[in-house]
Amino acid sequence: MYWAKEIEEMSRDQLQALQLKKLREVMARAMRSDFYQRKFEQAGLTPDDIGSIGDVTKIPFTVKDDLRDNYPYGLLTVPHKDLVRMHASSGTTGRPTVIFHTIEDIRSWADLMARSLAAAGCTPEDVFQNMTTYGMFTGGLGLHYGAETLGMLIIPASAGNTDRQIKLMQDFKTTVIHATPSYALHIGDVMQAKGYDPHQFGIRIAVLGAEPYSASTAAKLDETFGFTAINSYGLSEMNGPGVAFECARREGMHIWEDAYIAEIIDPLTGQPLPDGEEGELVLTTLDRRAMPIIRYRTRDLTSFVDAPCSCGRTHRLLTRFKGRSDDMLIVSGVNIFPSQIEHILMEFPEVGTNYQIVLEREKALDRMIVKVELMPEAFTGDIKDLNNIRKRMGESMRSGLLVRPDVELLEPGTLPVAQGKAVRVIDNRKL
Ligand code: AMP
Ligand code: ZN
Repeated sequence: MYWAKEIEEMSRDQLQALQLKKLREVMARAMRSDFYQRKFEQAGLTPDDIGSIGDVTKIPFTVKDDLRDNYPYGLLTVPHKDLVRMHASSGTTGRPTVIFHTIEDIRSWADLMARSLAAAGCTPEDVFQNMTTYGMFTGGLGLHYGAETLGMLIIPASAGNTDRQIKLMQDFKTTVIHATPSYALHIGDVMQAKGYDPHQFGIRIAVLGAEPYSASTAAKLDETFGFTAINSYGLSEMNGPGVAFECARREGMHIWEDAYIAEIIDPLTGQPLPDGEEGELVLTTLDRRAMPIIRYRTRDLTSFVDAPCSCGRTHRLLTRFKGRSDDMLIVSGVNIFPSQIEHILMEFPEVGTNYQIVLEREKALDRMIVKVELMPEAFTGDIKDLNNIRKRMGESMRSGLLVRPDVELLEPGTLPVAQGKAVRVIDNRKL
């Protein structure tokens, strides 16, 4: 099913002409912000310098730190009265990256989401159970408004409470779910442990995203539930979900090129890579009003599929994401940088010099273990003192990171001493 057939099947030439026109317009709008005015001035660049879509490479990159350094309002291009919503990237310690939207922005995002859901095979007949967190995280409200625009019946269940999720599925005959892939695996396990066959729920489609997962995980989920797992990619800086989405053919994720310019660059040199080669995805918002972002380095690693999709849509396909070109971790769908953990630990005077973050996957759920060496003075001989430190650390991390790790306190010299660059993260999760 097509949501916007003429756009989805537009010829490549028309699509590129549309992109060029929108790129010049978005540059002109972006220059109303202090940030882009400065950036373009330094580069000696105006929209008139962009004569073809290939000229996009003349524009300097925007990176996450630009958003942090200009927090909160430095990239705004409209007056405050025109703003209707803000969102933030998952993970909270330090300066979050916040994104603002006008009503037009919210509507075009919802429209892209509706287009994505329709391409995946969803229809107004479906009952849609949205099992990702509502709030500043974009997964909840992003899919919610898209599903509503498409006309599905939405159960805004939000994340967690698996027994209740299963009951909702039974009572309302859910046909489409949205979750992280690890949570979907977990639900399957819980259903089976309770003696259910997940097939009996009749779920047709599962929209799964927010973290990388392999084709074999998708296949395993398909087999467990009898649904079609649809890969959904997005990031808050580019709205959130609805940036790239698998259609029902699942030959890759269509990147909606009337709304975004996608480039793949070598993360080391910043140079564009030929189609088919794996590199870092760089994205430009073409429609954003409140806060346009131009040539944003996502740090996500992928490649363009070298062939068009058999569905007939002309928007190019991206391969499943391989990981990141920085050290960001995604734990239970939440973004965490190891430096955030270090920052929290170092606020405890009892902490020594060495720590390690271990990630495990247990019964399909992520578990983060933070191993910390304490100063010798911290070992008073009273177990209560240690329990107290562990509890305070756990709470600090829970409020700063949104994920509660298990804290293991160790004597000095227990953790291996690095020969070169310290190995702070050991990721034992396999997808
Ligand atoms: P956030 O800013 O909280 O929306 O997180 C966005 C990040 O989540 C992206 O930059 C990716 O690293 C990751 N992500 C989202 N969807 C997917 C997906 N389908 N596959 C792999 N990684 C994803
Ligand atoms: Zn397709």
